[in-house]
Amino acid sequence: MSPSMAVGYAAGAAGQPLEAFTYPEPDLKDDEVRVAVTHCGVCHTDIHAVDGDFGVFSFPLIPGHEIVGQVTELGAAVSGLKVGDRVGVGWQGRCCGECEWCRAGEEHLCLQIADCGTWTPYGGFASSVVVDGRFAYPLPADMAPEVAAVLMCAGIAVYPPLRRYATGAARRVGIVGVGGLGHLAIQFAKALGCEVTALSSSAGKEEDARAFGADHFLLTTDQGAMEEKEFGFDLLLCTAQSGNDWGNLVMVLTKNGRLVLPAFAPINLPLGAASGSGPAVDFVAHQVSITGSFLGSRADMLEMLAFARGHGISPRIELMPMAQVNEAMLRVRQNRARYRVVLVND
Ligand SMILES: [Zn+2]
Ligand SMILES: [Zn+2]
Repeated sequence: MSPSMAVGYAAGAAGQPLEAFTYPEPDLKDDEVRVAVTHCGVCHTDIHAVDGDFGVFSFPLIPGHEIVGQVTELGAAVSGLKVGDRVGVGWQGRCCGECEWCRAGEEHLCLQIADCGTWTPYGGFASSVVVDGRFAYPLPADMAPEVAAVLMCAGIAVYPPLRRYATGAARRVGIVGVGGLGHLAIQFAKALGCEVTALSSSAGKEEDARAFGADHFLLTTDQGAMEEKEFGFDLLLCTAQSGNDWGNLVMVLTKNGRLVLPAFAPINLPLGAASGSGPAVDFVAHQVSITGSFLGSRADMLEMLAFARGHGISPRIELMPMAQVNEAMLRVRQNRARYRVVLVND
């Protein structure tokens, strides 16, 4: 029996636009499910991958990892799912299951993580994907598919670090960047009971930031306003992809404060005094931490989905047909999406 064919949109090589791409549907392993994709969000990480920025993914590459769809086929060893179930799938589609991190329930830190993406073999800008059944998450019935799609990556990128670090007295939270991740992070931080400030280089974002729940708005290009906020934050979650003044961000952190990086933003940390190249005075003397944060565990994902549903977290979404994937990626690349683009299959 010849396999059915899947259709997707693939980059043939790094930096190339996506083109329609037809391929035989991969065979299912015992622990895998096939999911017919109905919706897939567009994330900056897709753009990094297509640009070849990670250097670990092979081409042709079908990106897309904010997936919602229906289970159409199950491997023999999959439990807890059945054909027809509506599921969400994020960036991680499998794990090695054997390393110390997988055994500890922190599968997102798997030592084989580069091979664990939903992109392998083919991602969500397609008619279907194949993933380990444990990484296909049943969705709340009353959650709109485009909302669930966005939560599968943007949601899991921002919720765990807020949950982990915005605790106890550390409640003065700054969300740096009001975009796809940032507009969700503002909502999650507010729902977690934090005093939330949105930091943006764009004054035009203030109204939206307040609508998402920000208590305060800080224009990062206003040096006077930034200096007034010296030691003003317990936690900064930096979601902005560009334009970050890292020295200023360290300045506004309180002593023992924490700067969390949940996205693959380009980083250049001039932590020294004055020009940035001197001794790292503030960074050391203030005992500031810089913390990477990568997605979350399976338990984090389930908790995030339940929290988002319970608190009415509502990403603002532009829907576009899957066939307009290149235009959608351009909107995200140019920071024109308000605030997340989700592609819809016919
Ligand atoms: Zn993503
Ligand atoms: Zn592992």
